[in-house]
Amino acid sequence: MTKTTLLLSAALLMSGFAHVPANAHDQIAHKTERTAPSDPKLTVETITDNLHVLFGPGGNIGVSSGPDGVVLIDDKFSRNAEEILYHVSEIAGENDELLFVINTHLHGDHTGSNPEMKQAGALVMAHDNVRARMGTSYMNKAFGRMNEAKDEAFWPVVTFSDQASLHFNGITARAVHTPSAHTDGDSIVVFEEPNAIHMGDNLFLDMFPFVDVDSGGSMQGMIAAHDVALELADDETVIIPGHGSITDKAGLQETRDNLQIILDRVSELKEAGKSLQVIIEEDPLADMSEMANFIQKDGIITAVWRSLGGDID
Ligand SMILES: [Zn+2]
Repeated sequence: MTKTTLLLSAALLMSGFAHVPANAHDQIAHKTERTAPSDPKLTVETITDNLHVLFGPGGNIGVSSGPDGVVLIDDKFSRNAEEILYHVSEIAGENDELLFVINTHLHGDHTGSNPEMKQAGALVMAHDNVRARMGTSYMNKAFGRMNEAKDEAFWPVVTFSDQASLHFNGITARAVHTPSAHTDGDSIVVFEEPNAIHMGDNLFLDMFPFVDVDSGGSMQGMIAAHDVALELADDETVIIPGHGSITDKAGLQETRDNLQIILDRVSELKEAGKSLQVIIEEDPLADMSEMANFIQKDGIITAVWRSLGGDID
């Protein structure tokens, strides 16, 4: 090993670069040592031999596999880490080396296993604001609680401002930042092969979305994120939402149209001078009640109100 290589290795180790050979891989068992979970929480959907989605608690995980190894889009909660790694091994067989985890945004149901995935060899990457916000405590007004800063073990080690292209398994995947959308650190991940887009939490399918205004998100930005993906997608594109089932370009368009209706209705009432409380009482989303799930009607109306500059203090 040359001096340069040694220095580089040392620098990578110090920076938390996760491609640490042998010893790190020993800490989490490889395929032969991984056993099926006794209390499984996750289910696997096969898009193609090289792209799978893990459903269950937290955000949907994209698993892109091939001869070089595996790239994950998001990694649910820490308690799901062992089961995620089990599925990675089941899907990828001997090529189960973790290359990258792309975090679509900072939320704990998408980044909760970052420490375990780093330990298993993954390099975790995300938009600049994901790392910045993970290191900062803030008041989450939407849920009336403090969100405490995360330990450095959770932080992405490679960040980008606009977009990043990853080249692996003979394909290119692009992480494309969507400004001030679900948060101010979101990316959608565009796969050229197979033809697929992971939307992260810019897409909640068949339910009101969570717009995290306290983390720099906005309804207008979420709609714009849909437009970015609609521009990139064709009728064959597989659309993977952050929450909800797999859909296609038509499903994405339908969701985009619903978000626009919600924005327009709340905007009109706000411009007419009505208070947030009066708008909620007038129930402008009465015909969308079936979309109430994680977020209720008052929650989405409040998020849109705040996206339009309205105060809730
Ligand atoms: Zn989220």
